[in-house]
Amino acid sequence: MFLLIKEKEQAVEINNIFDSHAHYDDERYEEDRDTLFQQLHHNGVIGILDVGCSLTAAEKAVSLARQYPFVYASVGLHPEESRTAVPGYLERLKQLAGCEKVIAIGEIGLDYHYDDTDKPSQKRIFEEQLLLAEELKLPVIIHSRDAVEDTIDILSRAHTRGVVHCFSGSAETAQVYLNLGYYIGFTGLVTFPNVKKVLEAIKIIPFDRILLETDCPYMAPVPYRGKRCTSDMIAFTAAKIAEIRGVPVQELVDAATENCKRLFEI
Ligand SMILES: [Zn+2]
Repeated sequence: MFLLIKEKEQAVEINNIFDSHAHYDDERYEEDRDTLFQQLHHNGVIGILDVGCSLTAAEKAVSLARQYPFVYASVGLHPEESRTAVPGYLERLKQLAGCEKVIAIGEIGLDYHYDDTDKPSQKRIFEEQLLLAEELKLPVIIHSRDAVEDTIDILSRAHTRGVVHCFSGSAETAQVYLNLGYYIGFTGLVTFPNVKKVLEAIKIIPFDRILLETDCPYMAPVPYRGKRCTSDMIAFTAAKIAEIRGVPVQELVDAATENCKRLFEI
């Protein structure tokens, strides 16, 4: 437990945090990962889902999950990795998913942010991995950036369940994902200025569909924005959502942790 946030001018301890989306395979944790994990455990973090973005990252995520009891892994190719998808990548993902601590396929999806995006290959890699998730009966972790229409189009034809991670869209978009049965994942982005649209979306998400995540090392919430993010900082993301919904922070954290365990069958 860790005295982390203020609620109604009182400091409160937040615990039972499950970080549903982290990248501790990143080299930025290479030097102090071991002590950091101990510290996080001490600070109320009970579980971490380490999400692989490439084959190399997925392999690392699996080895972290094998090494640390409270770490789980997700394996997949991020849309920005589509171009580097080697023949046989699906087989490799399938092999990695054979580890019992691999609980999801992801992060997968579409990212049209950059002008030189190869949309057809992104769509192909996305659809292939959705089929893999279906075959393995694993939930998916969806990354969608500047590609709402195509993401929804593809997901509505797939037979998968999962979470739309680092949600930054509108209430209308959130509703479409909810109707498709998806959970919505929120990062420190909700604490940034000028995110009115997302705050509107937060108002309409049922409590049993909210997931909390860091996307660390990125997306550290205010007051740590720009710093290397760690899973205990979820308390600030939770505090923002709890404030909007008018519930105690711990209640929100508990609900999100329960949702995470339900979705990923932990
Ligand atoms: Zn991520």
